[in-house]
Amino acid sequence: MSRLSAPYIAGPTLEGACRVVARLNAEGKLATVDVLGEEVHRRVEAEAIAKAYHAALDAIAVSHLDSNISVKLTALGLEIDLDLCRSLLANVVTDAGSKGIFVRIDMEQSAFTDDTLRLYRDLREGGRVNLGIALQSCLRRTLADIDDLAGLRPNVRLCKGIYVEQPAIAYQGRDPIRASFVQALDALLELGCYVGVATHDEWLLERSLTQVAGLRRDEYELQMLLGVREGRATELVAAGHRLRVYVPYGERWYEYSLRRLQENPALAGMLAKAAVQRVVPGRR
Ligand code: FAD
Repeated sequence: MSRLSAPYIAGPTLEGACRVVARLNAEGKLATVDVLGEEVHRRVEAEAIAKAYHAALDAIAVSHLDSNISVKLTALGLEIDLDLCRSLLANVVTDAGSKGIFVRIDMEQSAFTDDTLRLYRDLREGGRVNLGIALQSCLRRTLADIDDLAGLRPNVRLCKGIYVEQPAIAYQGRDPIRASFVQALDALLELGCYVGVATHDEWLLERSLTQVAGLRRDEYELQMLLGVREGRATELVAAGHRLRVYVPYGERWYEYSLRRLQENPALAGMLAKAAVQRVVPGRR
């Protein structure tokens, strides 16, 4: 597991994550740092993850790294107590704001979508502007969510969604999920939202680039995961796009990797292929 997931994780320590971010910045790429951990069930664990985020914010600020942070609300206690989660998140967002750093809330399984959007709305309506959300094009509700959030002109990461969801609530298969992504991106751009287009899917990437073609460089960004399509990311930077890399780090790498493998068999196939290619160079 460690060997298979190594390219996708910056290592167990904050120092390691900062080195990866510095390397990405030197390549002209932006970063978003994620402290690994999710579905936390004990208050003390949620508080420890919040503390790790405060340390990450300090490190980003002190080292002048070009990075924001990404947080999973279940890591900040969403399943324990909504008020605990709101309070830990608010403190992280305030700390980040005082350092000029933006905070992105990741989107998790559909069971958490309502609470995640609710806390996002609470904090934005409470005056915090350095906060964005992620939306998943696989979910049938996403266009309606964009409508609901319109008044906040949200800063959105748009992704397909990594979790396996039921057909009643989620599009299944490549084409409907792509079509929904295209529609959602149109809807967000129509509202004048800043969008982080998070995909490695070449068809979708090209399509999205035509959709943002009339925008200035600072009105959108492209996003990819650490260790995925790095060559393509470099080309996109050379072509003049802002590109952000998602950099997860921490001790909880095993759960993260295992969950990804369990939730997305395609990812398991890709991880296995990546490992075989390293062992047997040239094999496709
Ligand atoms: P795919 O069709 O899955 O991938 C396109 C191609 O990219 C593949 O054919 C392959 O060549 C390559 N590729 C993709 N992944 C890998 C890999 N791991 N290893 C090697 N090659 C690979 N999902 C959420 O549910 N919530 C979130 O908050 C969230 N945040 C994200 C943030 C970022 C920056 C990114 C890039 C993704 C995020 N995701 C999130 C995951 C996302 O929803 C998709 O599950 C994931 O990006 C795969 O979909 P894709 O659009 O890249 O297309």
